[in-house]
Amino acid sequence: MNTIFSNTKDAFSIKTDFELLRAHFLFKIIENRFLVKIGAFLINFSLKFYIPINPLIKVTVFNHFCGGVSESDCNPVINKMYNKNVCSVLDFSTEAFKNETEFDKCYKKKLSVLDFIKNRVEIPFAVFKPTCLGRIGLFEKISSDKKLNVMEEEEWGRVQFRFEGVCQKAFDNNVKILIDAEEVSVQKAIDDLTLKMMIKFNREKAIVYNTIQMYRWDRLDYMNNILSDHSDIIFGFKLVRGAYMEKEREIANRLKIKSPICKDKESTDMNFNLAIDLLFNNLDRISFVCGSHNEDSILKIMKMMTKKNINKNDDKIWFGQLYGMSDNISFNLGIKGYNVFKILPFGPVRNLIPYLIRRAEENTSVKGQTGRELQLILNERKRRKLEKI
Ligand SMILES: Cc1cc2nc3c(=O)[nH]c(=O)nc-3n(C[C@H](O)[C@H](O)[C@H](O)COP(=O)(O)OP(=O)(O)OC[C@H]3O[C@@H](n4cnc5c(N)ncnc54)[C@H](O)[C@@H]3O)c2cc1C
Repeated sequence: MNTIFSNTKDAFSIKTDFELLRAHFLFKIIENRFLVKIGAFLINFSLKFYIPINPLIKVTVFNHFCGGVSESDCNPVINKMYNKNVCSVLDFSTEAFKNETEFDKCYKKKLSVLDFIKNRVEIPFAVFKPTCLGRIGLFEKISSDKKLNVMEEEEWGRVQFRFEGVCQKAFDNNVKILIDAEEVSVQKAIDDLTLKMMIKFNREKAIVYNTIQMYRWDRLDYMNNILSDHSDIIFGFKLVRGAYMEKEREIANRLKIKSPICKDKESTDMNFNLAIDLLFNNLDRISFVCGSHNEDSILKIMKMMTKKNINKNDDKIWFGQLYGMSDNISFNLGIKGYNVFKILPFGPVRNLIPYLIRRAEENTSVKGQTGRELQLILNERKRRKLEKI
């Protein structure tokens, strides 16, 4: 079906011929589950035995999916995208943080990124993954309502201090902040803490945004409950389908409990659509981001915006995609004047490797996504060839 997202000329307008060729090559590899498995194994093996593969990773998959090693490395990409009305959200890679020293280091990095992006219209949000500020086991214990011992109470105090420190800095710098959603086992602690932050900082407008994973069948009730319990704040939500489906199902299977995930993709899609309706019905006290590569979901929101006479650039509604994926959505939305950003990961190559492997695995497992990316890249390469004749 032809939609506004079929326009590849605008979609890839910032990509050089070489970058398109590289994208073609990468998605060709990603398409093959076997090659992704072998690739992930070889990369992990090389890292373990200090085989110097970083330069190779940097010029291939890293440069396609990431902005650079430092925040200032990302500036050329940020500016190029902003020229096309596509904003950036800098995401400092945090997969490798495991102890108090590293959590503190990550906390300081998040604060410094918030200073870097202050007053920059091309970077309207900051983002963080809660378990980069504290131990996963502790988030799990709190989420399962188990009693903490004295040491753990102190440890949790430090996590809350960092969490609030990041939100306070976002508030002081007038930057909206997205808090990522993670596995169900840690999410209750994240939800409770994020709600506290919304109560503190979202009095006049949405500064703190919680992420709602609509592949969970319990999330509509969750949203309805907090909306009815708190009439005096402006909610910020980032609506996503959810990234940990296979892991969640595996855990539920192992523990012989009901899976927290909707029974099939159709149910997740229906849940996602119902959540969109809920958001639009409460837009006087909600701002939201739709974090999705699903064209139907985005078209639905665009239609509802038109129906409800909402300006395309109303700050209440944003669209977000990951850098290196679905450029046809982001750049065509940008050109039409909608609010849209790309999540732009940055950090040392070594730290970003788990993120890159996940991108490859996710694209292999998400039915149709890689095929779509490849087809668009092929169309654009063909279009450019014809243009040159
Ligand atoms: C800007 C942005 C921010 C994000 N932030 C987060 C975050 O904080 N936390 C997080 O968990 N994820 C996050 N994601 C990832 C997101 O949750 C999805 O995994 C990803 O975007 C794919 O979903 P989709 O809507 O783009 O596309 P689609 O291809 O339409 O949907 C794929 C998704 O549908 C669901 N699904 C697929 N098959 C089934 C099935 N059989 N049964 C039930 N459900 C199924 C899964 O969630 C799968 O990822 C983010 C994505 C973006 C673009």
